[in-house]
Amino acid sequence: MKAIQVVSPLNIKICEMEKPEIKNDQEVLVKVKAAGICGSDMHIYHGTSPVATYPRIIGHEVVGVVEEIREGVSKVKLGDHVIIDPVINCGQCYACKSGRQNVCNSLKVRGVHEDGGYREYMVVPESSLHILSKDLSWEEAVMIEPFTIAAQVCSRGNIKKEDTVFIMGAGPVGQSILQVAKKIKAKCIISDLIESRLEKAKVLGADRTINVGTENVKDIIMKETNNEGVPVVIDAVCTTKSFEDAFNYVASAGRIVVLGLNKKPSQIAQMHIMVKELDVRGSRLHNNKFPQVTAWFNNREIVAKDMISHVFHFTDIHKAIELIEDKNIENQKVILKFYE
Ligand code: MN
Repeated sequence: MKAIQVVSPLNIKICEMEKPEIKNDQEVLVKVKAAGICGSDMHIYHGTSPVATYPRIIGHEVVGVVEEIREGVSKVKLGDHVIIDPVINCGQCYACKSGRQNVCNSLKVRGVHEDGGYREYMVVPESSLHILSKDLSWEEAVMIEPFTIAAQVCSRGNIKKEDTVFIMGAGPVGQSILQVAKKIKAKCIISDLIESRLEKAKVLGADRTINVGTENVKDIIMKETNNEGVPVVIDAVCTTKSFEDAFNYVASAGRIVVLGLNKKPSQIAQMHIMVKELDVRGSRLHNNKFPQVTAWFNNREIVAKDMISHVFHFTDIHKAIELIEDKNIENQKVILKFYE
């Protein structure tokens, strides 16, 4: 079978490999049909991922069809369309025992710490699979994984119906958080520098958009909230400054959700956290969000096909990367397909 391997940073190639084989009764052979290219895949390609090792078959947003099973498998059957949960956890550590397997002490993510989905076949335990409606296109089904990230952010923010949420950043991550927060019936304010993203956010249901380049963010936030600030701020900009700014917008007793991998320290005084008794919470990957998010997609409660801008055959991986890196081309989700 063919696979796409990052041999070392900036060196990516299509190689010929042994097709994987089922080794125990709970495993399933999946024929891969499509896989998304995520920012974190690009970090591994560039050598800027703090966690990846090489050589690595990347790809963690993977859908396919069940091609072979053994007697121990009961949840899926031959021919089922499935999405693969990339998170692998130990089940024994403090985090796992607290029901927080996404931050397992010996966490492994397919496509990061282990080989992932940019290959024609994968063998995974059936517990990692979630069944897709056959009406969903392969490309749209890929979007379920990014939406598990958004669902995790909303649950870490403890967003409730009618809460006001301020999402900083209206890129693909901000847009998916917006859609999940709207499903929860929160009031959503979203900001960005790029007007076209804000227009998109309006279509997706944003109650108020703020152009950071031309409007005063703090004035608007205070006006929208009777000078209280917002109960939940989500920093999807992830710069040193955006994290600092979040403290200016959050209400007393509020939550700030952080999802960046930025290593540079921000300057936050203890006092601000103490005086408002804030919760500053990280959000990583997802904690058991596939069942809910897959159901939203299967039932068409979330439709994400408009967030896909380009589809390439996987053998055109170099063209796909070139497109993503071309600053002159507006792109959203770029997907590799593994069928003709
Ligand atoms: Mn992803």
